[in-house]
Amino acid sequence: MENSVRVRYAPSPTGPQHLGGVRTALYNYLFAKKQKGTFIIRIEDTDQARFVEGAENYMLESLKWCGIIHDEGPGVGGDYGPYKQSERKHLYRQYADQLIESGHAYYAFDTPEELEAMRDRMKASGIPNPQYGAATRDYMKNSLVLPHDEVKSRLANGDQFVIRIKMPRKEEIKLQDLIRGWVVFQSSQLDDKVLFKSDGMPTYHLANVVDDYLMKITHVIRGEEWLPSAPLHVLLYKCLGWEDVMPKFAHLPLILRPDGNGKLSKRDGDRLGFPVFPLNWTDPETKENSVGFRERGFFPEAFANMISLLGWHPGSVQQELFSMEEMIQLFTIEHIGKSGAKFDFEKAKWFNHEYMKKADSHILAAEFKTILAEKNISDTDDHIVAICNSLKQRCTFVSEFWDNSFYFFTEPIQYDEQIVKKKWSEKTKAIMKELRSLLSAQSDFSFSALDSFLHSFVQEKNLTTGDVLPVLRIMLSGTKNGPAVFEIASLLGKEKSLARIEKAEIEFDKLILA
Ligand code: GLU
Repeated sequence: MENSVRVRYAPSPTGPQHLGGVRTALYNYLFAKKQKGTFIIRIEDTDQARFVEGAENYMLESLKWCGIIHDEGPGVGGDYGPYKQSERKHLYRQYADQLIESGHAYYAFDTPEELEAMRDRMKASGIPNPQYGAATRDYMKNSLVLPHDEVKSRLANGDQFVIRIKMPRKEEIKLQDLIRGWVVFQSSQLDDKVLFKSDGMPTYHLANVVDDYLMKITHVIRGEEWLPSAPLHVLLYKCLGWEDVMPKFAHLPLILRPDGNGKLSKRDGDRLGFPVFPLNWTDPETKENSVGFRERGFFPEAFANMISLLGWHPGSVQQELFSMEEMIQLFTIEHIGKSGAKFDFEKAKWFNHEYMKKADSHILAAEFKTILAEKNISDTDDHIVAICNSLKQRCTFVSEFWDNSFYFFTEPIQYDEQIVKKKWSEKTKAIMKELRSLLSAQSDFSFSALDSFLHSFVQEKNLTTGDVLPVLRIMLSGTKNGPAVFEIASLLGKEKSLARIEKAEIEFDKLILA
């Protein structure tokens, strides 16, 4: 399977990944599965200064929750491991050395003060964003300028150094992005990026390219924010002699704020009251808590479906609801858009509601039971399942179940006064009394039987549904919201329904008199 697709998701454990990171992983996964290839996770932890405790586990748990399962990587291994760059530390130096030998890279010994002084000098001469590169490198302390012996003795003495790429002075670097087409960069705009540091660690750029090469990655699918780094990566492939096995690149569009104004960030979520992280996250330093989609009540399938459409759509079909299997079948990079995709929390909720409607009521009931237990309410499994069957048509999250169903478990202690005052009269009272007596003779309390019972009652008495149903609803549940009245009566059962109507007749009289 020499030519088969191998893609990787390569997060840095510098904090919780937000939904954009999960989307990158998802697209890599869908592409790999569609192409019968391999999906790899690689942890890019070379930047020790930005390492955040717990971020790696968080990322792995998030992907597992969404059903994005890797074929190679942490926890599963594979033939190209280790899959954590800090454990591959010994591999990178030889490539940095190779670049020095071929004249594509050099040692630089400049101290932070010297770098600062260079920037100040350049700024003073009118260059706003000075870089260490073709225009400045000849005036700095590096192996291109210093005598060979001095370089040797500095290295032998253990002086601090970095290895920098020697960016060509004036060259066009082109890459054919699978989403954006040809993208052209001018090397004169690029700096001599650090590839390796004397602490023995490569930087992201070198490690990323070396690992993609060693892991035989065929396609690099990653966020748009990495596009500016792509020309350096292309150059590294060339300089290392790997041009013919260079992966194809696809830079994904940004995920934008709901108003389309800029990249979606945690701050937007905090400000507008929605999650941007897949799971709950507690910042290990500040102890600040952020709520995740999972804990907010999202189904993993709904979340994965929702993020899949932030930048991709299979095109020909109108459909928006896709199972993971359908997404795999339909996924192509050609159908990823170039422009940013707006995140819309209302739409995210719509997805969850759609999945809620299809959810197994037994599973919902099991979850709801824990909420009921906290309120010291117990009921038969069958009854809770039947209530969940009704609730899932109207709720987006299980957390909304109690507020939409408390009246099935507890007797109303309050009634919607507005409706009672508007509707309760001697005439209505007589109607309800008659209804109650007819109901007590009704043996079939199923949805359909009660539905036709109520309709024929209204018709036979020459009434309108408005004369009967709103009052009956308040009598049974206390509140004006909820499923159809026949559904409420059926779920309450005959005995409770009759008792509640009888009690309400007395309570309504009191309310009117009050
Ligand atoms: N480590 C980079 C990140 O954190 C990976 C970029 C890439 O996929 O090349 O996103």
